[in-house]
Amino acid sequence: MRLLIMGAPGAGKGTQAVGIAAHYGVPAISTGDIFRSNVKNGTPLGKQVDAIMKAGNYVPDELTEQIVADRLDHPDAGAGFLLDGFPRTMHQVDALDDYLDKHGKALDAVICLDVEPEDLIARLIKRAEIEKRPDDNEETIRHRMDVYLESTRPLLDAYEGRGLLVKVDGNGSVEEVSTRIAAAVDSAVGH
Ligand code: ADP
Repeated sequence: MRLLIMGAPGAGKGTQAVGIAAHYGVPAISTGDIFRSNVKNGTPLGKQVDAIMKAGNYVPDELTEQIVADRLDHPDAGAGFLLDGFPRTMHQVDALDDYLDKHGKALDAVICLDVEPEDLIARLIKRAEIEKRPDDNEETIRHRMDVYLESTRPLLDAYEGRGLLVKVDGNGSVEEVSTRIAAAVDSAVGH
């Protein structure tokens, strides 16, 4: 199973990605987590992306694409994966297509978590209090939302055009949403 999970910041991608990946027995690969752990460990990559993330901007495409390609080369991703937070730009969509083509693989479905815009900001502000993520202050949150709407939201139309988009209502408890996702993905891929 090769899946993407998309949605606005705060839609619950990261939370759902872990459960859905476990459900299908594939690794959940989060570019945000990869970047955050590099920042935390002070690696050269972390030093490169720290300020970009704090400002709520996107890490450059080529760099992000290389990191994802390296991660997808790991044997554990050979039988499938769930990508969380990638692709975020059309350039990244093309890079992922190229990678998959080259390996004779294709996506099975693109999950899109739908949550009301007002709820998103409230969730992010709450998460900021709990997780203390440096990019979860109100100003950065609003900027990330704008960047999402401008650069990433249009990707949903592209995947919808390919018949891959599986829209799921992201409101409700974690369990409610994960049950909904699994049912929607199973019916979309014909299981
Ligand atoms: P959220 O979905 O809550 O915005 P993520 O953990 O997915 O959080 O991403 C956090 C930050 O990491 C982004 O704001 C961006 O700076 C960086 N990042 C993550 N994935 C990508 C990507 N595919 N392309 C560029 N930057 C990314």
